[in-house]
Amino acid sequence: MFGKKIPLFSLFGFKVGIDLTWLILAVLITWSLAKGFFPSYFEGYSNATYWWMGVAGALGLFVSIIFHEFCHSLVARRFGMPIKGITLFLFGGVAEMSDEPESPKAEFLMAIMGPVSSVILGLLIWAAVFGGERVGWPGPVTGVLKYLVLLNFILAGFNLLPAFPLDGGRVLRSVLWKIKGNIRWATRVASGLGSGIGLFFIIIGIMTFVMGAFIGGMWYFLIGMFIRWASQMSYRQLLIRKSLAGEQIKRFMKTDPVTIPSSASIEELVNDYFYKHHYKMFPVADNGELKGCVETKWVKELPRDQWARHTVSDVTKPCSETNTTSPQTDAMKVLSQMNKTGNSRFLVTEQNRLVGIVTLKDMLKFLSLKIDLEEE
Ligand SMILES: [Zn+2]
Repeated sequence: MFGKKIPLFSLFGFKVGIDLTWLILAVLITWSLAKGFFPSYFEGYSNATYWWMGVAGALGLFVSIIFHEFCHSLVARRFGMPIKGITLFLFGGVAEMSDEPESPKAEFLMAIMGPVSSVILGLLIWAAVFGGERVGWPGPVTGVLKYLVLLNFILAGFNLLPAFPLDGGRVLRSVLWKIKGNIRWATRVASGLGSGIGLFFIIIGIMTFVMGAFIGGMWYFLIGMFIRWASQMSYRQLLIRKSLAGEQIKRFMKTDPVTIPSSASIEELVNDYFYKHHYKMFPVADNGELKGCVETKWVKELPRDQWARHTVSDVTKPCSETNTTSPQTDAMKVLSQMNKTGNSRFLVTEQNRLVGIVTLKDMLKFLSLKIDLEEE
């Protein structure tokens, strides 16, 4: 979601990974546990012991979040929702859903399962603390476990905030969805509330910061920013998904794309195509037959003083799925391909024949028109 995803392991067919931001968080948490939380609540141990407790606490957080997301994913799979994987990032975990839930009931059960599982895990660890203290487990061990009890309860509580797309917001959306039968309206209300709650956290953060608690204030501020961003993003995503559902890419394509002959010189390519049309990619075609594509970055690899001696055919590469699609492809799929590759223009080909070109700009224009017309 934010940066690079590092795959870790596979559990019951779910790929578990961490985002780079999570590593930063893990270090921060270990440090603040070892230097702050554990020494102030469990006195009398050595510095080294506090560091070990910090590491164990951070690992416990990792396991707790994975467990929470995993329970979501199991319910989702039970309802036939594909979950691509579980990724831990800065503010917790995300079970990556590729579609909206099929019914309010599916969404409700899926969402509520996370906080419920965290409460259950917290209670189980609590029971272990009771048992452990009776049989004389060392203080640092029960200390870490006590922290994990608290943590799982906080995890459940935070996720129950009615701020879509947090679990509580999903629960709220499923109820609203059930009442009115309109998922778009339900999402708008739930994510609007999420936006508001995010703003509330931001204000608390600024006030806390001004009153002198810098670190605490910063955390509230960041969490608020995150909730706000996530709420607005997920509503937009729903609108896009709903608007593009079932649309084939041929609906958005321009059928008379500018092509360049392979015999043209590089100078011509740069001056008469790149600089004139302001596109970074052009299809190369001779007499209607598609030869491949040429992109600015491939021309850049060629030293400038050699431009005069080369033709377009020297920098042409075969079209690939990173810039080419077929007319029947789902528009949503092309949009996510554009997002992934950073290419905002895709060729539309049929049996190696160029039939059109589709651009992100045209798709977004269609989207804003459709959303504008159908907004109730
Ligand atoms: Zn959750």
